[in-house]
Amino acid sequence: MNADSSIKPPPIAKYGDSLAQVSTPALLIELDAFEHNIARMAEMARQHGVALRPHAKAHKSSVIAQKQMAAGAIGICCQKLSEAYPFVAAGISDIYISNEFVGPAKVAMAIELARHIKLSVCVDHIAQIDALGTAASAAGVMITVLVEVDIGQARCGVARMEGLAMLVDGIARHPALHFGGLQAFHGGIQHLATWDLRRTSAAASADKVAAYAQFLAARGIACPVITGSGTGTAEFDAASGVFTEIQPGSYVFMDAHYAANEWSGSAMPRHSLFIAATIMSTAKDDIAVCDVGLKGVAVDSGLPLISPGQSDDLKFDRANDEHGILKIIDHAGAVGRDRLGEQVLLIPGHCDPTANLYNQYVCIRNGCVEDIWNIEARGLSQ
Ligand code: PLP
Ligand code: MN
Repeated sequence: MNADSSIKPPPIAKYGDSLAQVSTPALLIELDAFEHNIARMAEMARQHGVALRPHAKAHKSSVIAQKQMAAGAIGICCQKLSEAYPFVAAGISDIYISNEFVGPAKVAMAIELARHIKLSVCVDHIAQIDALGTAASAAGVMITVLVEVDIGQARCGVARMEGLAMLVDGIARHPALHFGGLQAFHGGIQHLATWDLRRTSAAASADKVAAYAQFLAARGIACPVITGSGTGTAEFDAASGVFTEIQPGSYVFMDAHYAANEWSGSAMPRHSLFIAATIMSTAKDDIAVCDVGLKGVAVDSGLPLISPGQSDDLKFDRANDEHGILKIIDHAGAVGRDRLGEQVLLIPGHCDPTANLYNQYVCIRNGCVEDIWNIEARGLSQ
C-alpha cells in the first residue's frame, strides 16, 4: 500500500445542505438567535453608556468577533495570550487579556502582540509588572495594565487596598506601562438561579469595586476603565454606574447552564448553539446511543439538554468518550419504532469548553447551511 498524504476526511457540511445532511457530531449556530443575542447585548451596553468588550473565549472565532465589533464592541477579551493570535491575524486591533500570566515565554507573546495591536493585560503581582515593564521598554512598545481586584470570586486578584496601591505604584515606575484601571469579575454570581439574587449580588460586587476605585481616587489616581461582568449579571453591571465596560461571553450562545437562570424580559439570550448528533445504535429497547460523547460536548456544568420540539421523549443520560447514552423516557410510545439514523439536536451545558472541541461552526438558517466559520483559537490555551 502506498501512503497518500492527500487523503483527508470530507467536509462536515456544504453550503446549502439541509440540516439533515450535516455530518455529525457538528457544532451548529442557529443564525437568527445568534444575531439577536449579539444585537441585544450591544444595545443594552449602548443604553447604559458602557463599553462592550465581549469575551472571545466563549467562541474562539474571528468571524464572530468581527460581528461583535460591527455591532459596536470596542474590542474583545481573550483569556490567554496565544488565544489572541488568530484574532490579531484577522484584524482585531484592540485586545485585552483578562487573566494573569507569568514567565518569559508568555511575556514574549505579550510583547509580540503589543507590536501589532493595542494590548491591555491584567496583573495581580509585582513580579508580573516588572517582567512585562522591563520587556516592553526594551522592545519599545506600550502596554496598558489593569489590576485585578477580588470582588468575591476567591480566584485571582488582590483582596486588600494596600496590595492594590503597591501594584499601581509598581506600574507607574515603568515608562512602557500605563495603568488602565481595574479588572473585577465575579464568576460565582453569574449562575445564581433567581434574577433578584443576581441583582443584589451584582450590586454588592459593584460596591466592592467602587471601594477600590475610591481608594485610588483618594490618592489622586484615576481608573479610566473598570471592567468585568458576565452574561448572568451584565444587565445589572451595565446599569451600576461603577463598571465602565462589560465583558460577557456566553451571551452569544446561551448554554443550558445559563438557561437554568431565571431571566427578566428581553435580557434572556436565545439558544443559538446546538450540537447535531445521530443515533447510531438502537440495540437496546430502553436507550438510544448517539455519536456525541465527552469528545463532543463539555459536561462540567451539566449534561446537554435535548432541544425541545423534536426527540422530546429522549433524555441525555450519560456520556462516554464517543457515546452519548439517551434514555427513552416514553418507552411505551417508542415501541416498534427503530430510531437508527435519527438526528438529535443537543443544547450543550457549557458553551466555552464545548466550542473548544470543534474546528468549525456550521451556521444554520431556516434549516439550511448558510455559512461555515472556523474556530481558529480552538486549543490555543497557552
Ligand atoms: N470575564 C472573565 C474574566 C471570565 O472568566 C469570564 C468567564 O468565565 C467572562 C468574562 C465571561 O463570562 P460569561 O461567559 O459567563 O458571560
Ligand atoms: Mn463559561
